[in-house]
Amino acid sequence: KDFRNKVKPNWCPGCGDFSVQASIQRAAANVGLEPEDLAVISGIGCSGRISGYINAYGFHGIHGRVLPIAQGVKMANKNLKVIASGGDGDGFAIGMGHTIHAIRRNLDITYIVMDNQIYGLTKGQTSPRSEMGFKTKSTPEGSIESAVNVMEMALSSGATFVAQSFSSDLKDLTSLIEQGINHKGFSLINVFSPCVTYNKVNTYDWFKENLVKLSDIEGYDPTDRGLAMRTLMDHNSLVSGLIYKNEGQKSYQDLIHGYSEAPLKDSELKVDKSKFDELVSEFM
Ligand code: SF4
Repeated sequence: KDFRNKVKPNWCPGCGDFSVQASIQRAAANVGLEPEDLAVISGIGCSGRISGYINAYGFHGIHGRVLPIAQGVKMANKNLKVIASGGDGDGFAIGMGHTIHAIRRNLDITYIVMDNQIYGLTKGQTSPRSEMGFKTKSTPEGSIESAVNVMEMALSSGATFVAQSFSSDLKDLTSLIEQGINHKGFSLINVFSPCVTYNKVNTYDWFKENLVKLSDIEGYDPTDRGLAMRTLMDHNSLVSGLIYKNEGQKSYQDLIHGYSEAPLKDSELKVDKSKFDELVSEFM
């Protein structure tokens, strides 16, 4: 199972996104997928290029719309494992509405966000994940908005799988992606993926100094939602590892009435023409 293809990524040397790509490829192989079992859907931004770099089905979508496309792919073919992927600007600014509703819908896909706290593709503007006071071309005096707290937002929106990692922590990140793929429901994995070209604050060294591993916190239990929220608040959400998992909640596919067992293309459409005409006549 080789999820590498011949396309050479054109990310800047040292960009965190390289490790995210490698982790997805390793995780997909480790859980026993074949390239034809996986679809990688991406949004717009430097990170959005990832769908072209992985040997699997791929779709490079439009800005902020990675989740509607990914959910559509999954609904049309439940046999595919679907990974949605994009940046923090894509998912937590223009795409935030989709993110919240995908979380509460709990459809069985994995969303991996490459969070670099800046807009890289457009050459360095403040993003929804930039901290207050962060200086960029768009906020030369420092941002006067606070950063969106994605992990707390996910927990309070009913997420059944929330994790956070750091792109240079390849082993942990790969393991979290494997767990996300195997989770029966929506899994959100936020990955701190440094932009070495435009973000000179949140660097590799900064994360190494500031991130707390949940595995180092004695007694941490990722099935305890209250504890997860309190831990996030105590550490300003600068934690890495599996934050919360709820295996007891059914996924969207489990709950939807009449959801086809087979991919849509193989399903027999049973349309009762008389009922259809009756319905249409009500609107005429
Ligand atoms: Fe990565 Fe930043 Fe370069 Fe974009 S601009 S490829 S995010 S280092």
